[in-house]
Amino acid sequence: VVSLEGIHKFFGTVHALRGVDLSIDRGEVCAVIGPSGSGKSTLMRCINQLETISAGRVRVNGELQGYDERDGRFHVLPPRRIDAQRRKTGMVFQQFNLFPHKTALQNVIEGPIQVNRQRRAEAVRLGMGLLDRVGLSHLADRYPSQMSGGQQQRVAIARALAMEPEIMLFDEPTSALDPELVGEVLDVIKDLARNGMTMMLVTHEIGFAREVADHLVFMDQGCVVEHGKPLDLLDNPQHARTRAFLSKVL
Ligand code: ATP
Ligand code: MG
Repeated sequence: VVSLEGIHKFFGTVHALRGVDLSIDRGEVCAVIGPSGSGKSTLMRCINQLETISAGRVRVNGELQGYDERDGRFHVLPPRRIDAQRRKTGMVFQQFNLFPHKTALQNVIEGPIQVNRQRRAEAVRLGMGLLDRVGLSHLADRYPSQMSGGQQQRVAIARALAMEPEIMLFDEPTSALDPELVGEVLDVIKDLARNGMTMMLVTHEIGFAREVADHLVFMDQGCVVEHGKPLDLLDNPQHARTRAFLSKVL
């Protein structure tokens, strides 16, 4: 579903991504771990086109993201085309980013109605189904301030799913949560994985990554240092940097 080829990203003189190659197949769960500043969020933001890449190619379902290749040259796509591409990658952040003045249900149906021109009744029907899927149909009329962090994050997941993305990108979806609320969000993610959703997940929850990921990627200093099956990578890391990192977090 996603393929990354030679991705570089500079922020001024900071070389945040240094040639990342990665592909994620349909139905696959790819977990990304690595120290702070290693480029995990930047990589995810490049897939979602929240950042423009400095070099390389991002493809979603084979379609080049952000550019059009004509006459052997790359042309930046117009904003409307970029917006359309961005809808195919649903992103969930550490901070829940819900619209504070909208209820749970209104948050979920906003995109489908405003962007996808879905009819209201249909959007509500599908939205209630999604809230049910994250275990929150009984809180459809609550505002974010009236919900726990875990509940807000589950609404954020439902809202991303409402756009029917090809892939869900999760950037440390549980790091801002109180420990007792982490499980309910991880359960929703696990359920999505079981149902075949393609996902990329940046996480500090190594145990969870071991359990749900099909593929585990270790990043350091803007590079993918090592990747493979979670059990292989965690139990038998090949690189010194991976071992050093794991010894700190496990
Ligand atoms: P963390 O685990 O702390 O979230 P990360 O692996 O997600 O870290 P990134 O946020 O991707 O790391 O940052 C990678 C590098 O790029 C860091 O050196 C960071 O300071 C730099 N960086 C990220 N965003 C920007 C920005 N908007 N402007 C300048 N530098 C940035
Ligand atoms: Mg980050």
